[in-house]
Amino acid sequence: MKSESRNLAEITRNDFPLIRNSELNSKKLIYLDHAATSQKPKEVIDTINEYYSTYNANVHRGAHQLSARATEAFELSREITSNFINAYSSKEIVFTRNATEAINLVARSWGDKELNKGDEILLTIMEHHSNIVPWQLIAKRTGCILRYVGVTENGEIDFEDLTNKLNKNTRLLSLVHISNALGCCNPIQKITEHAHKYHTLVLLDACQSLAHQPIDIRSLNIDFLTGSSHKLCGPTGVGFLWAREEILESMPPFLGGGEMIQDVSLNETTWADLPHKFEAGTPAIGEAIAMGKALRYLERIGLNNIQEWEKVLTKYLFENLNSIEGLKILGPNPEKQPSRGALATFTVNNIHANDIAELLDISGICIRSGHHCCQPLHKHYGLNSTSRASLSFTSTLQEIDQFATELKSTIDFLKRHS
Ligand SMILES: *Cc1c(COP(=O)(O)O)cnc(C)c1O
Repeated sequence: MKSESRNLAEITRNDFPLIRNSELNSKKLIYLDHAATSQKPKEVIDTINEYYSTYNANVHRGAHQLSARATEAFELSREITSNFINAYSSKEIVFTRNATEAINLVARSWGDKELNKGDEILLTIMEHHSNIVPWQLIAKRTGCILRYVGVTENGEIDFEDLTNKLNKNTRLLSLVHISNALGCCNPIQKITEHAHKYHTLVLLDACQSLAHQPIDIRSLNIDFLTGSSHKLCGPTGVGFLWAREEILESMPPFLGGGEMIQDVSLNETTWADLPHKFEAGTPAIGEAIAMGKALRYLERIGLNNIQEWEKVLTKYLFENLNSIEGLKILGPNPEKQPSRGALATFTVNNIHANDIAELLDISGICIRSGHHCCQPLHKHYGLNSTSRASLSFTSTLQEIDQFATELKSTIDFLKRHS
């Protein structure tokens, strides 16, 4: 089927109470911070309400009907998550609190067991702090070495540097799919092909790609993937780890406690089957169920349709921003890299990013300023902070127009008053 760029904003904006209400009340609100957290459709919000109002009970325990219903909905959400990324089995989906916890799980469980002095972990300088700090902690404990792949002048991954730094000691390559700062989309198939030559496992931080394009763990040929509900039109408090079943089987538990055991005696415990071995304690039940609803919602809109519409929006965003004097965008232009993410991180000559974001906020426009949890990348560019506008399929060309107009007058104002 031909994928076309249908105007998805027209179809979807009414589904999102926060967006719809700000339109009804005619108070202008332009939310351009979808990369920090997504807005939620009504059916996702209703799912949480329905859970607490009609079948709230703990999962995997108790024979009563409420617990059975909660367990069924919770496990259905695992199925949906598994299908969303084309996993081999829902046993490979471990629910966590967020993507950060999923990466920590791999670092603590897989890392503590597998890593020795002299082993290497390969990261990139564009990683989110949640894909750097857990590895720094594990390096301290195990004596393994962290190495970092650089970026090109164009703001893309330096593939030559990556191939130079991969070697037989590289046990894991952990990298982002779409950078939340540069917006570049890393060529994962090509990268895994290279990494696997050295038997290096590949962990993909897919936080910024899962809501924007179809993801298939089989064709990407990766070994681990981490995702976050709140970036996927779902609630906060839940995320997930996917890993190949044989890898998860070989990994020791991360946290100990209830839900993750088979049999406990005073001195010894045997573990529950996958994935429960990694899910100690009562999970965020309603949130996990609502994440499943959110993934279903995204599938209904269609990830291909989302990608096509967001390409139109991103191109328009770049055209608008590039016409502003003194403004510089980090990361590849959509002309050069059509698969890039639907966001633009930028600097303006002699103007502080926070001043821009604060003034825009007065006009009802929400953008992000700061280091976006990517301090090493900002240090590489010699910057303390940048501004970032990030889009979703609910975004409109008019919003981009208004943003660009307000941004121009904000910059003029700040120049006059500096
Ligand atoms: C948001 C984000 C994270 C962290 O996800 P949480 O679920 O909020 O912990 C990690 N990596 C990238 C690229 C992100 O955008």
